[in-house]
Amino acid sequence: MKDSKHFETIAVRTQADRSGNREHSAPIYMTSSFLFDNAEQARALFADEIEGNIYSRFSNPNTTEFIDKLCLMEGAEAGMATASGMSAIFTSIAPFVNQGDHILVSRSVFGSTVQIASNIFPRWGIESTYVDIDKPETWEAQFRPNTKMVFVETPSNPSLDLIDLEWLGKLCKSKGVLLNVDNCFATPYLQQPMKYGADIVMHSATKFIDGQGRTIGGAIVSSKALVEKIRFFARHTGPAMSPFNAWILSKSLETLAVRMDRHCQNALAIAEFLKGHSRVEKVIYPFLPDHPQHPLAKKQMRLGGGIVTFLIKGGLEGGRRFLDSNKNLSFSANLGDTRTIVTHPASTTHSKLSDQDRAAVGILPGTIRISVGLEHIDDLKTEIDRMINA
Ligand SMILES: *Cc1c(COP(=O)(O)O)cnc(C)c1O
Repeated sequence: MKDSKHFETIAVRTQADRSGNREHSAPIYMTSSFLFDNAEQARALFADEIEGNIYSRFSNPNTTEFIDKLCLMEGAEAGMATASGMSAIFTSIAPFVNQGDHILVSRSVFGSTVQIASNIFPRWGIESTYVDIDKPETWEAQFRPNTKMVFVETPSNPSLDLIDLEWLGKLCKSKGVLLNVDNCFATPYLQQPMKYGADIVMHSATKFIDGQGRTIGGAIVSSKALVEKIRFFARHTGPAMSPFNAWILSKSLETLAVRMDRHCQNALAIAEFLKGHSRVEKVIYPFLPDHPQHPLAKKQMRLGGGIVTFLIKGGLEGGRRFLDSNKNLSFSANLGDTRTIVTHPASTTHSKLSDQDRAAVGILPGTIRISVGLEHIDDLKTEIDRMINA
């Protein structure tokens, strides 16, 4: 069973080595540093001739357990756990770009990713171009001789547009450019971008990986060669994940498959319910047959994901009424929790964009995003129906 390739078995059977106490569940190694047995071992550890823990900024048994498990789930050789999704994004790009380089970024990536690409990297002479998810035919012309990486999110937030990963993997390979995928919305249970040629996959573990709204965390997985560069950068800049958070997140991975099955089952049921609602103008969900990229969704995703986006009639006022009538759901900007979360992107997560930029990523004043949780589906339908009719 130790060598099983099945996702569910990997999830529960990948564990740090036992200590002398024969514990069944991995303990938390809250230690900043580790002892050396002798001078020769210390020398060999620092020379990278042998593997082992030195200091928890570099590695720790809990972060190693978490990242080893995630690597098996993503089909990656190696990885690095980071303190947050944003540190995973920064640490998965920065080691591969120099002054004068250029990256391509899919429009409608996470807000702070836009800040890195638009306002932080340019100060160091690294330029970005945004490409439209719904116009893949325009991408090739955007590559420059100094383009080093393509960074994408699929499905996108909140308009749930997909990028064909097989097509993009081939395009990046033909250009000799690294492909980096933010796999946060799908999780490795629904989508494994490395199968399609992604060089790097990163996560905000804060969302569905934790799935219970407890902690901030991030992860990067890739090939051994690229992770060597990522680890060098991280070791000396310090975005390490704490052992406690790694312990939580490794436990979370044990239940990822069963949680995602139910998130997706509930989300599909909510999408179908909204589809037939007279006060709803439009429903977006990748596994609804009328999603414009439904065949692609079926090809590269196991299920449709936990997020449903819809357009309520009545525009901004309609959206406000819906949220202000909420009693039993969570009104928050987060996603990927056991509890269903409703968000109004135009006034919260995407409020810093101009009306035009919001429209370019598919956000209208009446757009509502639902991160569908694990409550009973009948209770969810009753509450959402009540809110829509308010
Ligand atoms: C939340 C999120 C991030 C940032 O992650 P943090 O853990 O909040 O730092 C990055 N990408 C996506 C798609 C996200 O949803």
